[in-house]
Amino acid sequence: MEKIFLPFAIPSIGEEEIDAVVETLKSGWITNGPRTRLFEADFAKRIGCKHAIAVNSCTAALHLALEAIHIGEKDGVITSPMTFAATAEVILYFKAQPVFVDIDPITLNIDISKLEEGISVFKKRASVEHIKAILPVHFSGYPCSMDEILQVAQKNEWKVVEDAAHALPSFYKGRIIGNIGDITCFSFYATKNMTTCEGGMVTTNDDGWAERIRIMSLHGISKDAWKRYQEDGTWEYDIVSPGFKYNMTDIAAAMGMAQLKKLNTLLARRTAIAQMYHQVLSLLPEIETPPMGSDLFQHSWHLYVIKLNLDSLSVDRARFVDEMKALGIGVSVHFIPLHMHSYYKACYGFQPSDYPVAYETYQRIVSLPIYPKMTDADVERVIDAVVGVIKRFKR
Ligand SMILES: *Cc1c(COP(=O)(O)O)cnc(C)c1O
Repeated sequence: MEKIFLPFAIPSIGEEEIDAVVETLKSGWITNGPRTRLFEADFAKRIGCKHAIAVNSCTAALHLALEAIHIGEKDGVITSPMTFAATAEVILYFKAQPVFVDIDPITLNIDISKLEEGISVFKKRASVEHIKAILPVHFSGYPCSMDEILQVAQKNEWKVVEDAAHALPSFYKGRIIGNIGDITCFSFYATKNMTTCEGGMVTTNDDGWAERIRIMSLHGISKDAWKRYQEDGTWEYDIVSPGFKYNMTDIAAAMGMAQLKKLNTLLARRTAIAQMYHQVLSLLPEIETPPMGSDLFQHSWHLYVIKLNLDSLSVDRARFVDEMKALGIGVSVHFIPLHMHSYYKACYGFQPSDYPVAYETYQRIVSLPIYPKMTDADVERVIDAVVGVIKRFKR
């Protein structure tokens, strides 16, 4: 039977977002301005933090965060190899070094107990003069063990910049991600838990960093540069540093405000889908299902990543993905560990086995679709497809 393809991700756009965007288009002010300020205020309130600065991507947010804490040439920034390109490229923007530390095999988050090992592997391959920060990634939305991270950071005088692209909203010991480390960066990319098409947000409780990030996000201009065409603005401005063009538009912010209002509902649906998957898939010995989280580690369910037990299957991950696609199910792989990519191999001479857990995990992972627009029937279809493929190919 021919079935319609079930995409891996679809954004949750409703009439509210459409109306908000149209209203902005008609307002006469479409780029950075009053709606962006309102969105920032809403976001800061939701996180419970002092400052939220809206930008045009999480990549920009991470870049600005590292700039604010003065990452410089040859500095090291500790991070996970199990992440997207953005996390490490922003470190390289400063000619600094991404010092990868292997991951925990269950959560796929950075494993702090492997810190020494990670640093020594890295030091064999490149020179790092001084480690300045740690950049944990809350993989899939499962929060990192922040107590351990804060402790090691404090001991070593490292700053903590979090890649929370997946973690909206995630909670560690009841505290929301975005209000724990020094600076936190969120993504509103099309596939993320909430979207502004493209967009990002930086949160921090530090006045100095917030001011620097705001200034650098719009050409390094010292005051409300966006206001210079408004009635209460002034034509006069001063460039205090060569900044970037990373501002959010008011169209995106209008969308963001509408999305933020729905965040709890969206999370509830993601959680329900994860539970439906868990109920059936956790019983299959041929796969490992992701940890469900707990009161201490509250999941945002950005991704639902299963791991194939390759010993009990006659197919590899690539074939499993093809079989799912043949059944009309969009699946994905998060991520190809950074140390396995050409650039990093060429630059540092990495072998896959340098980060054995990331490497081993990579060969087994498949991300199943999980998004609020999925119906129960869609979820059942994914479950049936996984069960079917496993039945056909189990040893
Ligand atoms: C999506 C993503 C980013 C980048 O977000 P953009 O908003 O697209 O720049 C960074 N880190 C991780 C882990 C991501 O998944």
